[in-house]
Amino acid sequence: ANRIVVKVGTSSLIHPNGAVNLETFDQLAYTLSALNNQGKELILVSSGAIGVGLNKMHLKKRPTEIGAQQALAAIGQSELMTLFTQRFDHYLTDIAQVLLTHDIFDYPKSNKFAMDTFNCLLNDNVIPIVNENDTVATDELDHHTTFGDNDQLSAIVASHMNADLLIVLSDIDGFYDQNPKKFADANLISNVASINDDEFTIAGGAGSRFGTGGMHTKLIAAKRMIDEDRAMVLANGKDPRIIFDILAGKPVGTLFS
Ligand code: ADP
Repeated sequence: ANRIVVKVGTSSLIHPNGAVNLETFDQLAYTLSALNNQGKELILVSSGAIGVGLNKMHLKKRPTEIGAQQALAAIGQSELMTLFTQRFDHYLTDIAQVLLTHDIFDYPKSNKFAMDTFNCLLNDNVIPIVNENDTVATDELDHHTTFGDNDQLSAIVASHMNADLLIVLSDIDGFYDQNPKKFADANLISNVASINDDEFTIAGGAGSRFGTGGMHTKLIAAKRMIDEDRAMVLANGKDPRIIFDILAGKPVGTLFS
């Protein structure tokens, strides 16, 4: 794979107690910098603005009011980019912030602007770090929509930027035959070639405290990748160096292709 979109979930960036997981930030920067130096074209889609915002404002849980969540996301987004800038600077890699909404590629003008921006950045070996623009959209915040925690935004970006591979890093080792957080005897499924009602049934509802999408939105993303002849790997983001193993073809996580 030469053009790769990596999506990192809130659950990988924020500890369950609400603290920022600095090791994950560092290992992500280290791994993506090494791959960038090898000539891979990388786009990082990062969630976590709200989680970082909660931490910054010393709050324990997400406010219920959507406007308050958007405000927290605005606070957290700049802090999130500060954390990434610090870690990527350490590895001498340039990054850029790209804030999108899910429908940006539906309009010819904004589609062209977005694609031109991505292409310029990739040509200059800069890693775009994408998030939903939470000030003007609530797709990621509103639990009733099916977008959820950037899983689908990452698939939309992978699709339009013609990426070979989408890597989704989460807090579980892959896709299981039942929710592993609820059933100790759940089994990891290594390969999924098609996604139907059965898969959606075993995906259940949303997962972690700060995460919003759960497995459902990851399957929608995977289905899109399969339908477009791309691949998606779902793997555990607790150590992002797992991306090296994925690219080396080692059997980690779940491969959807
Ligand atoms: P992230 O913040 O990384 O996007 P989420 O919490 O949104 O993570 O989604 C991952 C969660 O999905 C897992 O921690 C797990 O609780 C839940 N889940 C539900 N069904 C499954 C399944 N069949 N296999 C794996 N995880 C599942």
